[in-house]
Amino acid sequence: MARKAAFLIALVPALLAAAPLAARPRGDERNALVSYYTPDYLAFKKRIMAEFARAKAGRFSEFVRYRRKDEDKSLDQKVIALTFDACGGRHSGYNAALIDYLRKEKIPATLFVTGIWIEKNRGTFEKLSKDPLFEIENHGLMHRLCSTEGRTKYGVHGTRDLGDVVDEMELGARKIANLTGRRPVFFRSATAYTDDLSRKVAARLGMEVVSYDILAGDAMRLSARKMSRNILAGARHGAVVIMHFNHPEWPEKQALELAVPELRRRGYNFAKLEDFTVK
Ligand SMILES: [Zn+2]
Repeated sequence: MARKAAFLIALVPALLAAAPLAARPRGDERNALVSYYTPDYLAFKKRIMAEFARAKAGRFSEFVRYRRKDEDKSLDQKVIALTFDACGGRHSGYNAALIDYLRKEKIPATLFVTGIWIEKNRGTFEKLSKDPLFEIENHGLMHRLCSTEGRTKYGVHGTRDLGDVVDEMELGARKIANLTGRRPVFFRSATAYTDDLSRKVAARLGMEVVSYDILAGDAMRLSARKMSRNILAGARHGAVVIMHFNHPEWPEKQALELAVPELRRRGYNFAKLEDFTVK
């Protein structure tokens, strides 16, 4: 328990620092949405909201859907998925050294990006989306924590209701699909917290909610050595590692330089999330 408490205390300031919209006025947000509110989209949103009008929010948790692929018999090898979020807002940087490292080592990875990060990194985003090493998935249009009853965590800016959740998921997905020609199939809520109803809405929109198994700890500002230790300690077949690629000043690359040779020595390979699911 003491370790858990210390972990949470350490996590709060880091997540607050990663919450670009925490202090953003609602008016700005409304203005940003206007261009997305086409008549077609609004009709679609209304239909989805009607379908879920009587549904209960359910459990609010970091692990509303916990992908456990170690039960997946389709893979008889040891595989780990490295996932990297790009949150956006004030933190719309790009960790080029990290991405270059993944390319050099030919490590496939899944990148969860927000619409607001894409806006600030258009050229980079297009290059990443054309690289077969990377899978682009949905981290929401505006990096709002998805709760259908307006709950939030760590003071991070959240959705107010079901309608906001639909916006965050569907408009994020449409933005990625419009630019890449591929609609995302996974969704990760800001901070990974969400509720059962949001998970059902995501499924209705064709996306599976993904949390994580291994918190490397970059957002807690851990050293490369500590992050590497967390990755190695949690390593098992099917594990999903969460890190970020929107902070060039964070040492994810250095952590991987320590962890990857050891993971390979233990017989692990790396896969994109979409390759975990073999139909
Ligand atoms: Zn994020």
